[in-house]
Amino acid sequence: MVKLVFLGPPGAGKGTQAVRMAEIYQLPHISTGDILRNNVAEQTPLGIQAKLYMNRGDLVPDKLILGMVDHRLKQPDTENGWILDGFPRNVNQAYFVEKLLLKSKNEKPNVSNSFFVINIEVPGEILVSRLLSRGRKDDNEETIKNRLEVYHQQTKPLVDFYTERQQLISIDGNQSIDAVTNSLKQAVSLSC
Ligand code: ADP
Repeated sequence: MVKLVFLGPPGAGKGTQAVRMAEIYQLPHISTGDILRNNVAEQTPLGIQAKLYMNRGDLVPDKLILGMVDHRLKQPDTENGWILDGFPRNVNQAYFVEKLLLKSKNEKPNVSNSFFVINIEVPGEILVSRLLSRGRKDDNEETIKNRLEVYHQQTKPLVDFYTERQQLISIDGNQSIDAVTNSLKQAVSLSC
């Protein structure tokens, strides 16, 4: 059982690498950003509420996000593990994951539960140019500035959170896409 979380600022390449690792490990790739964008496109009640926050580059409130993630992680394709991309993004969400892991350990005490958090590191100035060239609706200069600020305030503390728990794997994200994947594969296989 492998469970991976992709951490890192917007533009670090989490999504690209998470999709690749999902293929390699044959695990579902669960991107909270993608789930939210689908909800926005389908104008679900969740999507209608989330849109306001996403367009500003703010985090969608936990009271909306936690139920959404809980529901997704109860689907049968998560039986052998999962790859989370964009979640957890604050300390409260990290405690939520910790509780889930504990529950799964209690339910399946004989199954090894490998859990790692991948921190993809990329210098700030490179992040902004990557995001501007991506051209998603929330990839304009003002929103990007706020998303990076939100990352520093709310998500970056998770680097310490997971370092303390010895669950953090740091990867240099300022390399070619293939080189990052290779570093990742190596680091994860060494840790598991
Ligand atoms: P990026 O990697 O560029 O930050 P994402 O696709 O992961 O983009 O997220 C896009 C937006 O969706 C975020 O700016 C935020 O508004 C919302 N979002 C995604 N995941 C979460 C989460 N775990 N908690 C709160 N909001 C989230």
